[in-house]
Amino acid sequence: MEDCLFCKIIKGEIPSTKVYEDDNFFAFKDIAPVAPVHVLVIPKKHVASIAALTEDDADVAGKMLFAIQKVAQELGLDKDGYRVIFNTGEKAGQTVHHMHAHILGGKEMAWPGV
Ligand code: C5P
Repeated sequence: MEDCLFCKIIKGEIPSTKVYEDDNFFAFKDIAPVAPVHVLVIPKKHVASIAALTEDDADVAGKMLFAIQKVAQELGLDKDGYRVIFNTGEKAGQTVHHMHAHILGGKEMAWPGV
């Protein structure tokens, strides 16, 4: 997608602090962190959100959980735990329409946080 901010980050056209990359996923530090560790995991395939997933995206959707697991492990979040958030749709707070998982960690978190 030409005008997609996260597609441009994947291509290196917009700078980011990369923490992980493989054939299908890219992860980088959020520029406005809301926790001591705040990383975004995005698929290289452009999908707007969970709501826009189709059967054609089954492979990437399944692999994304494993990419999140791997990034969290590499960030050392396993021991104390972490939160994964997919804002889906504008009322839920989604501002960038390229599916992404927020990984949040490094602090005690309250629940529910809505
Ligand atoms: O879930 P939502 O769509 O609101 O999340 C988008 C996230 O992308 C925000 O947390 C924002 O800080 C982050 N962002 C970023 N780098 C950019 C633009 C946005 O990390 N260049």
